[in-house]
Amino acid sequence: MPRPIRASISLRALAHNLERARECAGSAKVWAVVKADAYGHGLRRAAGALAGADGYALLDFEQAIMLRLAGVQKPILLLEGFFSAQDLALVCEQRLTPVVHSTAQIEMLAKTPLAAPVDVYLKVNSGMNRLGFTLDNVRLGWNALEANPQVRTVTLMTHFADADGASGVEAQLARFEEIVAPYAGAPRSLANSAALLRFPETRADWVRPGIMLYGCSPFADRSAIELELEPAMTLKTEIIAQQRLTPRERVGYGFSYQAAGEMTVGVAACGYADGYPRHAPSGTPILVDGVRTRTVGRVSMDMICVDLSRIPGAGIGSQVTLWGQGLSADEVAASAGTLSYELLCALAPRVPVLEVA
Ligand SMILES: *Cc1c(COP(=O)(O)O)cnc(C)c1O
Repeated sequence: MPRPIRASISLRALAHNLERARECAGSAKVWAVVKADAYGHGLRRAAGALAGADGYALLDFEQAIMLRLAGVQKPILLLEGFFSAQDLALVCEQRLTPVVHSTAQIEMLAKTPLAAPVDVYLKVNSGMNRLGFTLDNVRLGWNALEANPQVRTVTLMTHFADADGASGVEAQLARFEEIVAPYAGAPRSLANSAALLRFPETRADWVRPGIMLYGCSPFADRSAIELELEPAMTLKTEIIAQQRLTPRERVGYGFSYQAAGEMTVGVAACGYADGYPRHAPSGTPILVDGVRTRTVGRVSMDMICVDLSRIPGAGIGSQVTLWGQGLSADEVAASAGTLSYELLCALAPRVPVLEVA
């Protein structure tokens, strides 16, 4: 018998969440962000379920080529662009749309002969200070692209650092407008999931939702349910052993959890080697037979202990939901001091994946 852990991916949930993104996007076109193997959901499977998008955004050439080999004809946005002249040949051959964020890339584009002109996204640094051109050097970038006969179209883009947080988008939006003011005719792309959901003024021509497509909330103060998103990934396992503890007995590595009174502990077949966060403390929510309970003790490599005291009838063979349907990955992530993004991306290759409608 294989270990009982498995992740199921709901294709219907992915399609539903894309529909939600479209509702928010108005007339803007939608890049479905499928980087990091579609946030751990599997690129080909997710791209299929998200076929209603206008294009796909990701980072790796391998993943872009995988989509082309799967028959995808739509535009593919390379979020970090290209790194070498060989990359540029692939950009051309595979009809990819690279982000251009540095003068090195602009120079490479100017001196590498291409078989056909390319569409590019010119990245503007509006305050996140990670990638892109600032007010000081954007003109150089823009002029070089405009003067380059190998460049067909230029879309202006930026990325928000805190669309989900207290700062919002106001300052970056103003900065972006200031930087791109001279290039009024060019199309624009700004919004990630948080901006798309909270700031309609950021929609522009193309939006770039990621996390919301997978049914998680980008916000600490609004749940996925409130946002009408459905979890696409559900991670499940079973209870494989059970222990009866007397008062003051301890559980797991480091003896970090001590039973206050008599209690029943179940051992679930899922650990950090499956992608469950090792830092999830005792008390992290978890479902057993659909009933909400809590983890106890440290997460180990292959196992995690759960409190079964208040779940009559639970025991070996009981169904355990780590996250997904019935328990948002956002909640588990918050308990572990991280984000659902990290949980989804960390799903380990050893976990079998099932597609469900
Ligand atoms: C990852 C990413 C997105 C999507 O962000 P979410 O918060 O997942 O919606 C959008 N734009 C860029 C440039 C990204 O890197």
